[in-house]
Amino acid sequence: MPADLIVTAKSVITVDKAMSRAEAVAIDSSTGKITAVGALADLQKDSPDAKVQNLGDSVILPGFVDAHNHPVMSGIVCMEPSFWIAPYVGFPSYDDVKKLFVKANSEQPAGAALMFQGLDRSLQGVGELSNTDLDAFFPDRPVVVADNSGHEIYFNSAVITSLGWADNKPPADPEGSRFGRNADGTSNGRAYEVGAMLAVAGKIMAEAVPHPLLSAAKWLKSMAQNGVTMTSEHTYQSSMQKALIGLTMVPAAPIRISLYHMSTEADCGAAFVSPVPESMLKKNGIKLWADGSPWVGTIASTIAYLDNPTVVNAGITPGTHGEEMMNYSRAQIDAVIDAQGGNGHQFAFHCNGDIALDIVLDAFEYGLNKFNLVGTDHRWRVEHVGAARADQFARAASLGVGISMSPFQFIYWGDILDGTLFDSEVGAQWQRVGDAVKSGAVVSFHNDGSVSPSIPLLNLKSTVTRLTPSGKLHGPEQKISLDDALRAQTINGAFHLKRDDESGSIEVGKFADFVILDTDPYAIDPANIDKIKVQGTWLAGKPVDVDAYLAQIESIDPSEHKDLHAVAIDKPHKC
Ligand SMILES: [Zn+2]
Repeated sequence: MPADLIVTAKSVITVDKAMSRAEAVAIDSSTGKITAVGALADLQKDSPDAKVQNLGDSVILPGFVDAHNHPVMSGIVCMEPSFWIAPYVGFPSYDDVKKLFVKANSEQPAGAALMFQGLDRSLQGVGELSNTDLDAFFPDRPVVVADNSGHEIYFNSAVITSLGWADNKPPADPEGSRFGRNADGTSNGRAYEVGAMLAVAGKIMAEAVPHPLLSAAKWLKSMAQNGVTMTSEHTYQSSMQKALIGLTMVPAAPIRISLYHMSTEADCGAAFVSPVPESMLKKNGIKLWADGSPWVGTIASTIAYLDNPTVVNAGITPGTHGEEMMNYSRAQIDAVIDAQGGNGHQFAFHCNGDIALDIVLDAFEYGLNKFNLVGTDHRWRVEHVGAARADQFARAASLGVGISMSPFQFIYWGDILDGTLFDSEVGAQWQRVGDAVKSGAVVSFHNDGSVSPSIPLLNLKSTVTRLTPSGKLHGPEQKISLDDALRAQTINGAFHLKRDDESGSIEVGKFADFVILDTDPYAIDPANIDKIKVQGTWLAGKPVDVDAYLAQIESIDPSEHKDLHAVAIDKPHKC
């Protein structure tokens, strides 16, 4: 096949089956696809007229894959003009958050609404906030602070005033949610779960985030800057269709996106119609949530939370929380599988607790048998699996169920999982990546924004070393090889996103999607892999230009996406 471009570097790590290395990659720029991989001299012999681009001492790998993310809502709540205050993006303690509150109030235009995302009660050592707490920092502008759990927001008195509630008393609680109230019935500046959160924050967010599509694009830019070329939108709902088309249709779009439609929407099984090529945007399947989050005690698990101030401060009742934490009964899960399982959809099922995973695997086994899918290429998958055990991974493998794991749970919470939230015996083992890989199931990694920033190199370091950023070692028997970690962050992620036929490794016939690193990850101490610099990414044979991307999205009239804020709250994101 003719190539008009040959890219060479210090080394090309192909992540093909043999994990082979090459010297150069030949590309047909008209298709963006790879025509040959091998020695530079051989490639030049086959394509003597091709331009040669030498990346010098850099190393070329397949673009990283984040197999489970929520770029639209993450952009809206985390990226400027919103403020991201999660402990691992520069705010380890509540004191750090308070300093930002003071700075933001003095620097932002008077009266302007502000949105903060990611207060983390267990890691930052703070209880629930109230309107009085926030008034001390923000006496005269509307401010909303979202809890990192996604279950609760806090807001100041200016918000209460702007809502126009009679005598500052919230109205009747919307279904499945509630407003926080003082003894006299007035608002205490808290709202719990989607309905109440949306009623409070919808209007404020529209003021605080005037160009929500641009905010989403900034999230994708940050992913690209960390080396990602492929991800998903795991809370897809039909109201996001226009936004996702906008984000992927512009010429400089940096990332391929696969969609998972929330099962709670009546049209979750509908076909996705779009002018964007499927190689950039396509719908894969349906997303369900079995249980909740380990950080607020809503996982369905046999493991007991310990009794100490960290646990209680996070609002968790010590002890075990079992099947009552399931968001669906088995009959409700089966109803979704009955309705959609025969239509070729890929199911992606959130489960953190071991009980949740048992129930989901039971339901998957039922559905796979019912629709004669056992042994076929169905690619049904489970997400996060924080507490899952080796026998459960083995069962998933036997059903052909893929496992998409959350190294970030171990990275950012590992130090408190081990001995503070749970007994060390189980807490040190959280995210048993070693057992998952050994099971033979296809294992991928994800960062699940807005829960954590997409930093694939940190995932590689942490799963290879089982070191947390504080330098502590937890559960070393769950270490995996760099080969396995790299597969999880590239080709296996592409497999889970149903794009492994066109990307995920550097092989002939696939798109030339690359991440360019300044250092070979195999050539350094694994504890320093996260220090490697991402020099850029390529998509379909062209270097990604993230600034051009933002400029293209910024030129889209924001009024076309003015209702997009609602999706940032109107979703059961309990990861
Ligand atoms: Zn998620």
